[in-house]
Amino acid sequence: MSDERTFVIVGASLAGAKAAETLRAEGFTGRIVLVGEETDRPYERPPLSKGYLLDKEPRDKAYVHDATWYATNDIDLVLGVQATALDAKAHTVTLDNVEPLRYDKLLLATGSRVRHLDLPGSENLGIRYLRTITESDALKADLNEGAQVLVVGAGWIGLETAAAARVHGATVTVVEMDTLPLRRVLGDEVAGVFADLHRAHGVGFRFSSGVQEFGGLGGRVTHCVLSDGTELPADVIIVGVGIRPATELAEDGGLEVDNGVVTDAGLRTSNPDVFACGDVASSYNPLFSRRIRVEHWANALNGGPAAAKAMLGQDIAYDRVPYFFSDQYDLGMEYSGYVEPGGYDRLVFRGDPATEPTNPQFVAFWVKDGRVLAGMNANVWDVTEQIQTLVRAGHEGRAVDLDRLGDPDVPLGDLLS
Ligand SMILES: Cc1cc2nc3c(=O)[nH]c(=O)nc-3n(C[C@H](O)[C@H](O)[C@H](O)COP(=O)(O)OP(=O)(O)OC[C@H]3O[C@@H](n4cnc5c(N)ncnc54)[C@H](O)[C@@H]3O)c2cc1C
Repeated sequence: MSDERTFVIVGASLAGAKAAETLRAEGFTGRIVLVGEETDRPYERPPLSKGYLLDKEPRDKAYVHDATWYATNDIDLVLGVQATALDAKAHTVTLDNVEPLRYDKLLLATGSRVRHLDLPGSENLGIRYLRTITESDALKADLNEGAQVLVVGAGWIGLETAAAARVHGATVTVVEMDTLPLRRVLGDEVAGVFADLHRAHGVGFRFSSGVQEFGGLGGRVTHCVLSDGTELPADVIIVGVGIRPATELAEDGGLEVDNGVVTDAGLRTSNPDVFACGDVASSYNPLFSRRIRVEHWANALNGGPAAAKAMLGQDIAYDRVPYFFSDQYDLGMEYSGYVEPGGYDRLVFRGDPATEPTNPQFVAFWVKDGRVLAGMNANVWDVTEQIQTLVRAGHEGRAVDLDRLGDPDVPLGDLLS
């Protein structure tokens, strides 16, 4: 008997595409509609500030599936179209303000939207942001040898673009409100390692500084003015001051929203036929006994399939340890775990990052109340699973030998009693 149901996925990016793939892999034979407002088929964003921006990886490598995959798998891929309204009672989403589309189950995979700065000169001077492949193309065209690049915001996107700009031969200054890059996420110790890494590659920092206005001529930026009045020249300004979850549709449908679309551990929203995953979802994680919103690639990669299974009625408990990675210059790092800003009482290093500031090699652990909350491996590989086991152990009440945590001669696997 044929399945007459329609499953609609809004958000044609990594989480949405992976959910569609899983629906088919799990044997769903009904209609799948994957709606996205961008005109490119689903692609992964990490290369946009790394390999693709550096011209080391071709565009094709960023796509989640090849162009024929959607037709082959009978997925209606509707691109360049925005879902503008949700009527959860009537089970419809409206596309581009006109056409209502009926669904039996709906997945919100609407991701994040970039925060824009609203300052004098913000408009019409070519100030760059980086979320889409089109924006990565525009930035790449700007990153010429000798260009004066100013990065506003020393978060992951700011630092990765700073690194890419240096590799392209640009002069780079990073302006940051805080006293160190990534300080809220990593704390002073590891934030200091990233400051040293970038300084060692010739990046200048202006900490404890905000931007007050941008100035330019003929539609091109020429400088910015900091809050203390200092004028910094720039041919290219890239702003990376964070993102916000794209919750507009959920709000329109009257779903519970609280820093993201609220879901249970089965990625189900406050409406039983609507699910959410990826950047936009604030999901209850049973391991952490709380809701967490994770703005990282692995959460889209794994959350999409988990949500698809939940849409098919499978019993899902999405309890993954949050994970992300970054590449800057020759430094590759992975981070597993979750720490609130300032929410640790001890930082333990394996290896001394100061030994080689241009390319440090270390593992760092964030510890609180005798538990490993998170670990970062930088230029150290094949330890992620072990670090995640230590993080899980802490949350499951299993003891970890913290006295030997910093001893590189003790295998991480030996720290669990
Ligand atoms: C430049 C860059 C580099 C990154 N690097 C890393 C990294 O190194 N490591 C890491 O872990 N993470 C990284 N990330 C984060 C990672 O890419 C995101 O976590 C991931 O893209 C989230 O996927 P998603 O599918 O949930 O949402 P998104 O990728 O945000 O996609 C959501 C899609 O939904 C569309 N949409 C939204 N609302 C609607 C609507 N109403 N109708 C139709 N379409 C809609 C959006 O246009 C978008 O295409 C990076 C992100 C960026 C931007």
